[in-house]
Amino acid sequence: MNALEQAKWEIDSNLSSFHYQDKVVLELKDSLSEQEFTLSGNGTYRICGGSETALLYGVYELLNALGFRMFSPDEWDLEKPAELEIKPLDIHWKPRLEYRGFFVVEARETPAMMRWMAWHKLNLWGAKLHQPELARQFGMKLRGNSPSGMHRAFADFLPPERYYATHPEYYALRDGKRTADMTRGDADNFCTSNAEAMQVFTDNLTEALEHGSLSDVDLLNLAPFDNGHWCECDNCRAVGNFTTRMLNVAYYVQKAIAKKVSRPVVLVVPAYHETLDVPDRPLPDDFDYSKVLIQFFPIERCYAHDIDDASCFANDNLNKNLLAWSNLGKFRLIIGEYYNVSTLVSIAAILDKGMAHDIPYYMEHGAYGFDYMHVSTALWGELAVNNCAFAAALCGEPFDIRDFCERRYHAAASEMVEFYDILRRATANCKCLKHYQAVTYSPERHRCEIYGLTYRLRSNSEELFLPGHFELDKDYGPAVSLETTVRLLGEASAKLQKALLSVSGDELASARLKMDLRRLQYTLDIVCFLYTFTKLRLAERQGDEAAVKRLATEWRIQGEALRKETTMMDHVREEGAPNIYIYKNGLTALLFEKQFDEYFHLDGEADLAANTKAGQK
Ligand SMILES: [Zn+2]
Ligand SMILES: [Zn+2]
Repeated sequence: MNALEQAKWEIDSNLSSFHYQDKVVLELKDSLSEQEFTLSGNGTYRICGGSETALLYGVYELLNALGFRMFSPDEWDLEKPAELEIKPLDIHWKPRLEYRGFFVVEARETPAMMRWMAWHKLNLWGAKLHQPELARQFGMKLRGNSPSGMHRAFADFLPPERYYATHPEYYALRDGKRTADMTRGDADNFCTSNAEAMQVFTDNLTEALEHGSLSDVDLLNLAPFDNGHWCECDNCRAVGNFTTRMLNVAYYVQKAIAKKVSRPVVLVVPAYHETLDVPDRPLPDDFDYSKVLIQFFPIERCYAHDIDDASCFANDNLNKNLLAWSNLGKFRLIIGEYYNVSTLVSIAAILDKGMAHDIPYYMEHGAYGFDYMHVSTALWGELAVNNCAFAAALCGEPFDIRDFCERRYHAAASEMVEFYDILRRATANCKCLKHYQAVTYSPERHRCEIYGLTYRLRSNSEELFLPGHFELDKDYGPAVSLETTVRLLGEASAKLQKALLSVSGDELASARLKMDLRRLQYTLDIVCFLYTFTKLRLAERQGDEAAVKRLATEWRIQGEALRKETTMMDHVREEGAPNIYIYKNGLTALLFEKQFDEYFHLDGEADLAANTKAGQK
């Protein structure tokens, strides 16, 4: 199917039971831009689009207006109205952001996910696909990576095993020696001021774009090693800061693409870690800002506070970087947010209000595209709120939580609005709790020092908390304490169970609430595990042996239960691909399996199996 056939299929499959499929006319119009559509009429409707994809967007817009909703890709989350809500419509839509969607590096597109995205007018997905035609059917723009990963371009296209022996000068000078190891994740970037090295690198890269493994890619991530090291030679230092050096690489790659690649390819260079700062030297006069986009990655940020909240160190620091990029007035920015970043591992952190503030703010400051990493493609539960709010904000539309709850939960709507208020507050400090955020900036390391409870527990740090922002039992406005988080999650759970009772007999609302309950329980299990371990560490320090014994028993039961949890962190990775450690089970999602096994002198899975068997006897 192509996008037009999909549009017609949506009309037939959704409207024919209302005998309404003949009341909609579709028309392609050259005067409209590629993603632009108009929708007008009253009872009969005309949709005009600048492309087949724009017509598909128009059909979804009409379905929404008539009372349909698609809350998530899950089969129980398509809501059909009892009666069509016919009304006069006069809508003219064009995108505020060119690219809207998700940062995906694995092949994990599903028909339901692609449909949910197009329904919400999202269009950015990864170029690694099982079914490229499926992505095209739903109008996706595809962004690719270097063959062995986003941060691996230097290793892939200037491999030391091929060039080092004859040309050590191509590679980074570190401590007076040219280094040849590009196997590590945080390896040494090549000597980017060496003209011949740059020539070989761009030749190999453009060859892959024109004839090789990147021949399907239209946007290409061009990134240095993740936390890598830069060449210390005098010529490289003279080029400027790390950002200037990376943008010079992009400049030469873009020039080579213009000369040697027969289709337009846009480069995406990360503003991330050591390249968060704007370039400190002028770029060449013929630098093509329309072909080199900057992806701004605020990974060290906090979600208890808005991105422009100067009272929050993590966000204030990043906001200054954002404003510096924005003030240059030259670059098109893609914002790369972290609403389900790795170690959040799909816990039910509710971030809709923050998105409603931050996304328009980013748009005012140079955003041209927007995505976030590690979206899951099924079993969303409460995460449907985040993703629906995210899509609405990217399209410049308000997200109405009351409408969401009324249509998704029917009789339990009011209860669920209150539920989300509680859960939103409970999970506001999710970055401190489960991921990390910046706490100070260290200029000599060009890096932020970071804080995260999970990491502090793992290393048994003296100070487990972040005074003034995340403490054991004291709240600071939205930055709630660990104890408040646990208490509010308990309240949310009670509220959700009550809501479930109130919709008995309503199959759809029940199915949705049961999925929500499942994800909430997982979230509660994760947080209670961290809470118990925190208390255990504190009891150890006080030498309270009775408490240590009791808490260790509690902690072990919680950990063994989490080890059996393998569903809630699924759907964020490629099916059939080797499992990524963090997504293996609930314990690895906490990064805690090894510590846990060591604490109880278990030998990982083998011992667990033995214990389980013994328990069964
Ligand atoms: Zn160098
Ligand atoms: Zn904060």
